[in-house]
Amino acid sequence: MRLLVAEDAAVLARQLRTALSEAGHAVDVAEDGEQALHLGETEPYDVVILDLGLPRIDGLSVLRRWRATGRTMPVLILTARASWTEKAEGLNAGADDYLAKPFAIEELLARINALIRRAHGHARALITCGRLAIDTVHHVVTVDGTPARLTALEYELLAVLALHSGRPVTKGYLTEHLYDQSFDKDSNTLEVIVSRLRRKLGEDVIETLRGKGYRLVVP
Ligand code: CA
Repeated sequence: MRLLVAEDAAVLARQLRTALSEAGHAVDVAEDGEQALHLGETEPYDVVILDLGLPRIDGLSVLRRWRATGRTMPVLILTARASWTEKAEGLNAGADDYLAKPFAIEELLARINALIRRAHGHARALITCGRLAIDTVHHVVTVDGTPARLTALEYELLAVLALHSGRPVTKGYLTEHLYDQSFDKDSNTLEVIVSRLRRKLGEDVIETLRGKGYRLVVP
């Protein structure tokens, strides 16, 4: 999924980019509030991790501006102090969750996963669809109970389709949510991934809708 990390502490930002990328996410990093504001206004993030103590424009102001202009993406705020006022202020400004520094990366990953599921209306971490079961915590996909060996990108594409519960997903949407800003977007890549997924999971699992993109076939 596509994430924005807005964090001015360079070491932490680098650690987050590495850990979140290793977990299969496409990650953009903003080093100050101005950059964060702009990226959040123009790019379609699945989750934003927003440090409140940002230079140029503070995190709370960035969040308020997004919400005032109708940006609804899930936002998890990072608070430097374990103060309840900061957390409450953040939640009241439109944040969906928070973590106080220092935190364990596993907890951040779990919270990101939960925010992504909830944003798509899934309460459970296991998404089932016919013969397929998609474990969104461990990134394991099984067909009739047998694990399929998927690459990180194959898993991510399948997960996006599964989160949309059988509704069509355009190639543009997939490209924007699977790759970070620096990626040279090429829709042929998607076709290659889809054909590999069909080979591994069954030809009838993903349907191509002419001009509309792809959808997971819900039996
Ligand atoms: Ca900071």
